Amino acid sequence: MRVSSAPPPVASASLPEVAPADGPGGVNRRDFVRVCLTAAAAIGLSASAAAAIAEAVTRGVKPSVIWLHFQECTGCTELLLRTSHPDVGSLILDLISLDYHETLLAAAGHQADAALEKAMADNKGKYVCIIEGAIPTKENGIYCMIGGRTAIDIVNEVAADAGAIIAIGSCASWGGVPSADPNPTGATGAPMVLKGKTVVTIPGCPANPYNLLGTVLQYATLKTLPELDDKGRPKWAYGRTIHEHCPRRAHFDAGRFAQQFGDEGHRQGYCLYKLGCKGPATHANCSTNHFGEVPDAWPIGLGHPCFGCTEQKLGFRVPLHDTVDIERPTPPDTYPGVGTPQGNVGAVATGVVGAVVGAALTAGYLASKKVSPDATEPGNDR
Ligand code: SF4
Repeated sequence: MRVSSAPPPVASASLPEVAPADGPGGVNRRDFVRVCLTAAAAIGLSASAAAAIAEAVTRGVKPSVIWLHFQECTGCTELLLRTSHPDVGSLILDLISLDYHETLLAAAGHQADAALEKAMADNKGKYVCIIEGAIPTKENGIYCMIGGRTAIDIVNEVAADAGAIIAIGSCASWGGVPSADPNPTGATGAPMVLKGKTVVTIPGCPANPYNLLGTVLQYATLKTLPELDDKGRPKWAYGRTIHEHCPRRAHFDAGRFAQQFGDEGHRQGYCLYKLGCKGPATHANCSTNHFGEVPDAWPIGLGHPCFGCTEQKLGFRVPLHDTVDIERPTPPDTYPGVGTPQGNVGAVATGVVGAVVGAALTAGYLASKKVSPDATEPGNDR
């Protein structure tokens, strides 16, 4: 399998010619095209790649997906099924062949086991193995058993003949909430169990369905996996921190912070850093790809500090209201050159720098306007 950094050229067919009059599964054509475009754009592909995806799907070329569940709340699956505008859950089920999924399977017991064996045999070496949930390792893995077999046995068997392996959610990526101290079951992630194999991790609690969809469709249509960071995360989705694209960033740069939940600054939508926001140290695309396709449906959009759920060192480990260090505390127009080394800055220093820089900018602005600042403005640190 190739791991690509730059997608190869794809067919140049135009979307209107390849998309069906009515999309797969009764989804209307407009929604179908929109999801293909969104998925292609999400993984950094061109509109012509969306055409290739749409064409492959209308020809019936769907990747076989085997979805395993272990220690988790099923939140990643639940979010996948509850997306809307359009109903991405339905579209995903149309774009892939979901041959085994313990939550959605109508069969049970031996019938379910038979479905898994058939899916593996029919698509040997080609299927996508998606793992949701942590894998307990203590006591030889007895804390998660399905059909008399441990999660360790099952994941090793299914992953052995997979064409691609994806760990969805923070639990499968490194252990997530089941691995929180004192981690009584020895919960860990799929990459730690499947040592030596390429495991694409899509952390998040829950993970954004578009990040999964983009990865699966790239594998299905281009036979490549996205370029990954050192934690196995696709760079197109996890290459930047939430802080870099946060809609509250202007408040941070100006030194305007909510001091406590419900205060005037919080009501005004000020920066949540002092309430413990982990956005400056959290790599994810939540701020640009909201959940369920609903505008502002993500923690900071709803007024809650980022929890850092995509970062093993933060999520379920660092207390909610503890602040984090910030690598680049100053506004974008004062960034140093690209090659200049930058050190980490402590939480207190960060607030001071944000306030000083904001004050300097504001002073210049006010001087130009010949007006005085309103010292009573809520949440204004100056
Ligand atoms: Fe947004 Fe959090 Fe950064 Fe404030 S600290 S700008 S709320 S990511």
